[in-house]
Amino acid sequence: KPISELDATAAANEAASLRPKLNQWRRDYYDEDAPNVEDAVYDREYARLVALEQAFPAIVTPDSPTQLVGGTVKAGFTKVQHPIPMLSLGDVFSQAELQEFDDRLRQNVDEPFDYNCELKIDGLALSLRYENGKLVQGSTRGNGSIGEDITKNIMTIESIPHQLSRPLTVEVRGECYMPKAAFAALNERREAAGESVFANPRNAAAGSLRQLDPKVTAERQLSTFMYNVADYEPLKARTQSDMLTEFDDLGFAINPDFKVAHSMADVFSYIDHYQNERPDLAYGIDGIVIKANPLPLQRDLGATVKVPRWAIAFKFPPDEQPTLLEDVEWTV
Ligand code: NAD
Repeated sequence: KPISELDATAAANEAASLRPKLNQWRRDYYDEDAPNVEDAVYDREYARLVALEQAFPAIVTPDSPTQLVGGTVKAGFTKVQHPIPMLSLGDVFSQAELQEFDDRLRQNVDEPFDYNCELKIDGLALSLRYENGKLVQGSTRGNGSIGEDITKNIMTIESIPHQLSRPLTVEVRGECYMPKAAFAALNERREAAGESVFANPRNAAAGSLRQLDPKVTAERQLSTFMYNVADYEPLKARTQSDMLTEFDDLGFAINPDFKVAHSMADVFSYIDHYQNERPDLAYGIDGIVIKANPLPLQRDLGATVKVPRWAIAFKFPPDEQPTLLEDVEWTV
């Protein structure tokens, strides 16, 4: 039923029936790394809940998936508190919605600013803490405030520097992913050994990083692209794009395909370009992210309980025929 035809009670009832279903799917996806429905199905039901809550803000509950980031800490892992939360991203599915995001943002910002366009890597977020240039801790996003201590696991990932080129004390964040070739080879080996296969590279990356035995992680050929910082103060950079270049200088792997956009026309041509390039990339992407480029502006704009106000993801349509979930035996 169109939302305009609902009253508050009907909207509250529908939202109350969507939440437990979505929360169960989230547990399967984030906690078990074993989704039970396609992302498109989750996204559709989630979007309906967002629309209901936007039309009737009084029906929002604290346990609504619209108010929550990610999942919980897996048994066996030590918990890590994120003093600066690790957030999700707002998303849009059309250029018109992206333009609306830009219009809204510019209404709230007095000075002109550029966006940095980045690929949205299909993996899972991780945070790396360095003290005086030395890698001391790695953690997953978890529920945004509390993640999993995966220090031993990240020590086995080649693209993560153990020592930075300058003695910085800094917390750098980014994405851990499994390259397409490593994913295909892993599934081939598992199939040959009569083991269950992973449904997609995102799941394979999450299942491989969230392992209690770091030797398993070491065998899985994971890689990383870093793109964010808990607090930019220790860095020289004062824009998102300069920060990526500084990360490169410090020894991190960054995705080189970022671009500063001076207009929404630039953003749209970036989208078109990478929608075409997507099949040829060595890793999965599920969209692009645009971020207000000045770091002080990012800080001023801040975040809601769930997403930063200075960035948005434009999601691509699913790139392959969806895997029939019932044909896949899930594994972690
Ligand atoms: P998200 O993955 O859509 O976006 C936020 C994340 O994007 C960040 O945490 C970060 O890890 C990642 N990212 C990748 N490249 C980035 C870049 N360049 N800059 C910044 N961030 C970047 O949001 P989410 O809340 O983690 O998850 C929602 C997604 O998970 C949806 O696509 C949804 O379909 C899927 N999901 C599926 C199910 C299911 O049952 N199938 C359940 C829950 C969630």
